[in-house]
Amino acid sequence: MQRKTAERYFNELMMSPRVIQFLDNLGFKQLFIKRDNQGNVISPKLEVVNKTSGALVAGEAYGSHKICLAKWILADDQQTKAVIRHELAHLLHKFSGMGGNSHGQEYNSILKMISPNRWRKDRHWYPTVSIEKARSKVHRVPMVNGTSMILKNRASLTKSRRYVKNVKCNNLVKAKSLSK
Ligand SMILES: [Zn+2]
Repeated sequence: MQRKTAERYFNELMMSPRVIQFLDNLGFKQLFIKRDNQGNVISPKLEVVNKTSGALVAGEAYGSHKICLAKWILADDQQTKAVIRHELAHLLHKFSGMGGNSHGQEYNSILKMISPNRWRKDRHWYPTVSIEKARSKVHRVPMVNGTSMILKNRASLTKSRRYVKNVKCNNLVKAKSLSK
């Protein structure tokens, strides 16, 4: 997926009726989506970076204003969309002030609102051949007989919660994901 397509999906999602309703219920929609004088959205923003903070981190959320996607996740359209939904949920969770852990019950309720049918899957990203190929150009990807190890052990890896990492940094909750 091209960066522009990812941005378009992110903007569409952010302005979807469900999200607008959620923000209306909080009572401060205008404060979440910020626009310049021409009406262009200036925040929240989506950025694509060559490397996130980890070889298995597909996306990161910064406060309620920015998400970063690892370039390699863009190798798969469905996974890119899943990571965008996951990270948008982090922005809204932070913005809502609902509290709880970064992947806790409150967060999950927001992910469920964004992605009613796929929210369980959206808690993680899942490796594919094209993702692993793209990822191996940026990171050292352990291989077994020519197949990336996490792709080979996908079931066991996604069952365990090894992907989940959260760090606090400068008082800013930086939710790291795989899309976790
Ligand atoms: Zn996350």
